[in-house]
Amino acid sequence: MTQHPRIILLGVPGSGKGTQGALIAKTFGIPTFSSGEYFRNLRREGRLPAEISAKINAGGLVSDEDVNVIVVESFLSTQEAQAGFVLDGYPRTVAQAAFLDDYLTKQSLGLTAAVYVELPMDTAFRRISGRRICPNDGSVYNVYFQPPQREGRCDLCGATLIQREDDRDESVRTRMATYEAITKALIGYYGDQGKLVIVNGMQTPDAVFAEMRRALDDQA
Ligand code: AMP
Repeated sequence: MTQHPRIILLGVPGSGKGTQGALIAKTFGIPTFSSGEYFRNLRREGRLPAEISAKINAGGLVSDEDVNVIVVESFLSTQEAQAGFVLDGYPRTVAQAAFLDDYLTKQSLGLTAAVYVELPMDTAFRRISGRRICPNDGSVYNVYFQPPQREGRCDLCGATLIQREDDRDESVRTRMATYEAITKALIGYYGDQGKLVIVNGMQTPDAVFAEMRRALDDQA
């Protein structure tokens, strides 16, 4: 792999992009930026504009203009991003991908790879709609795949588990439909550039990561 890898992660919501982003970041010593996490942090701090909040809750997309500005100002232009990076959840539209290409090209840089974590829709749906989070310590459970010992309660601290607003069934269906209709086009976009790396998401996180590493090494 190159010394300062610049990687983006693609995949349906629930494919495990966040987990893989964290593994890549840790292994290669590069920062990761998740646009969805950024919005959730703003919300926690009470600073998320109401119209953006409403779009996210409904499972729709925040406008390209807003997201592009946020990603550049909050991450890409910072010192830490100069060592390479992993982006999770951005770009999500062809317009965002073109903007990112343009931004990097202006600095004589380019992406190393677009990693597509492939997962059947029905599995992804259950991964997200079954997800429950401890508001106290951040532990994550899944009512289908990894239920807590006591229903609805955190194993570690006993707090009542909650479901993320945009993890509710209806909102998940909209997010999946948005992915199908808009974001999936990025697979072709990066495929045409010869940047696409496809990995099988139907494995443990460690196995997905190992497959991705091999593929990235082969690509280099
Ligand atoms: P995520 O955690 O990546 O699933 O993002 C949660 C929500 O934030 C998405 O369903 C969108 O509403 C919004 N969002 C995150 N990243 C983007 C993006 N690149 N473009 C538009 N909306 C985004």
